[in-house]
Amino acid sequence: MFSLLILPGDGIGPEVMTEVRRVISWFQDKRNLKIDIEEGLVGGASYDKHGVPLTEEILNKALGVDAVLLGAVGGPNYDNLSFDLKPERALLRLRKELDLFANIRPAQCFDALASFSSLKREIVSGLDIVIVRELTSGIYFGEPRGIHTDGSNERVGVNTQRYTESEIRRVAISAFELALKRNKKLCSMEKANVMESGVLWRDVVNEVHVDYQDVELSHMYADNGAMQLVRDPKQFDVIVTDNLFGDILSDCAAMLTGSLGMLPSASLGNKKNNGLPRAMYEPVHGSAPDISGQEKANPIACILSFSMALRYSFSDAQNANLLEKSIEKVLAKGYRTPDLMMGDQGHLCSTSEMTDKILEELDAG
Ligand code: NAD
Repeated sequence: MFSLLILPGDGIGPEVMTEVRRVISWFQDKRNLKIDIEEGLVGGASYDKHGVPLTEEILNKALGVDAVLLGAVGGPNYDNLSFDLKPERALLRLRKELDLFANIRPAQCFDALASFSSLKREIVSGLDIVIVRELTSGIYFGEPRGIHTDGSNERVGVNTQRYTESEIRRVAISAFELALKRNKKLCSMEKANVMESGVLWRDVVNEVHVDYQDVELSHMYADNGAMQLVRDPKQFDVIVTDNLFGDILSDCAAMLTGSLGMLPSASLGNKKNNGLPRAMYEPVHGSAPDISGQEKANPIACILSFSMALRYSFSDAQNANLLEKSIEKVLAKGYRTPDLMMGDQGHLCSTSEMTDKILEELDAG
């Protein structure tokens, strides 16, 4: 029996999570999936009830379960709170306390949505790549940092790119492991031509490669990587890169595929005693206050996040494939939430109608 903590959060978070729970129930009833589910408050919803965006109780639960599935946090009601009380702090704290150092962002282009990409259909159709971004170190955390005034009375802004060998090694291992489960190709991106941290990054990735000889490893400077991602993204399988480059490259790759409502993500940490990695799954999108409460939210990003949990936490590729295929079929039949509509092409669906269609496809097998 696996354990899953569901944290719906704010705005459209609870709306899309209701749909995920319907999908999970289907797997429990029809495929005998054994998951023990708990649910809790996070973000603004937790602040409203408890005065903090993340309680110690929920944090302890998150530390104890096999996987966390989070909807989205934030909203205009909380904009004026102090930094420590803002809903987004809950996310940062969860990532830090669970030590989720590998952020996994798939960029998969469903055929039916290829015309949504800003690139030509033939460049993105069939695209299926994954970016592994180091999430807990690098320039966003390195010291020294800050703004100070130098000797000539000029203000100076400082951030420090800093990586230890072990930080690079563990994210490289995650990326090689992922590549092994896919098409066995890994491209590591850094700027070893101008940054010492990049030289070390490349060295350590090469060292880890010794244990993963079945994976074909290549290296690319991150600026060239950005160009190649928009020139010919299908040349990649898995990309591993640092926190800063990963932030930019994963957003760039996301847009190859179309709507924010389609993008799942996973953040993984070290393996626990039971051999499973600590893990949190969440859609890439936020709480979308502009459409909240209107049955307009696309639930697919959150449903695909659950599919990633099946694959990476519950080692259940079979059910993950079944779910992803069902979504593909629904899209191929033209069902669209408003974010996926192009003119009047397609059958417009509400949030729950989209799930109805996915469940119908699951039923049809
Ligand atoms: P957003 O992702 O919430 O929305 C951006 C745009 O995409 C909006 O027009 C929205 O309607 C649309 N959109 C997003 N998800 C969609 C979905 N599933 N279906 C259809 N359309 C969708 O980003 P934002 O507007 O910049 O931020 C809103 C709030 O969410 C802020 O408080 C922000 O801090 C928070 N946020 C949270 C997370 C998170 O919880 N991981 C991530 C990003 C932003």
